[in-house]
Amino acid sequence: MQLLDIGANLCHESFHPDLDAVLQRALTHGVTRMIVTGASRDGSRHALALAKAHPGLLFATVGVHPHHAIDYDDATDALLRELAREASVRAIGETGLDYNRNYSPRDVQLQVFERQLQIAVDVQKPLFLHQRDAHADFIALLRRYRDKIPAAVVHCFTDTGEALRDYLALDCHIGITGWICDERRGTHLRELVREIPANRLMIETDAPYLLPRTVRPPPAHRRNEPMYLKHICEEIARDRGEPVEVTAANSTATAEVFFGLP
Ligand SMILES: [Zn+2]
Repeated sequence: MQLLDIGANLCHESFHPDLDAVLQRALTHGVTRMIVTGASRDGSRHALALAKAHPGLLFATVGVHPHHAIDYDDATDALLRELAREASVRAIGETGLDYNRNYSPRDVQLQVFERQLQIAVDVQKPLFLHQRDAHADFIALLRRYRDKIPAAVVHCFTDTGEALRDYLALDCHIGITGWICDERRGTHLRELVREIPANRLMIETDAPYLLPRTVRPPPAHRRNEPMYLKHICEEIARDRGEPVEVTAANSTATAEVFFGLP
C-alpha cells in the first residue's frame, strides 16, 4: 500500500524535535509521500525548505491561512509569487475563508483569498483550500475563478451534503481527514464520503491536528502524525463499502494527478 498524505503541517513546532522519526514511521505505515502545508509567510518558506531537503518524499504548498490573513501585505504577495514558481511547490494554499473563529476580519479574509486565487491563476498551479462556516462567500468567489485554475481541493472537508455537491459541481477535489472518526461532529461524513467519485477523493491527516479519535489503543500523546493516514484510509474504505486497497490505490492515483507527481 502506498499512501499520499495531501495535508501535513510538518512545519509545526511540535515536529521540530523528531521530524526524521516521524517521517520514518510514516514510511513504515505505507505513507510514501506527503504534501507539507504552507499556512503563513514563514511557514511557506519552511515548507519549501523541507520539500527541498527530502526530494521525492515531501512536496510543499505555499499560502496564507485565513487565520493569518491580517498579516498579508504586498511583501507577502511578492514572496508567495516567488516561492510558487519553485518545482517542489505543488499547490497554492492553504488559503480560503474561516468564519468559525474570525481570527482575521471577514473583509480582510476575502481580499487575501482573492489575491491568492490570482496567484494560482498566474502560475497555473492547483489550489489547496480551507473553508469553515463560510460556504456561501467561499463558493461565490471560487466560482468566479474556477475556469482559470487547473484544479482545486477543498481540504479537510467537514461541511454539509449541499456544500459537497456544490464543490463537486465546480469539479473540485475533496480532502477527507480523521474528522470522519470524530463521533461528536464527523458522523455525517461517513455517509457523504460515499458520494465522492474515486477520482475526486484524496486523504490527509492535517497533522499535528485532528488525531483520529478511533485509533486503538489511543496514543498517550495528542499529536497526530502522517503514520495515522493508514487508519483514516481504513475508516473511509469501510464507509465507502470497498476494500482498503481500492481506497488507497485510488486516492493515491488521484493525488498524483492533482499535484502532478511522478
Ligand atoms: Zn485547514
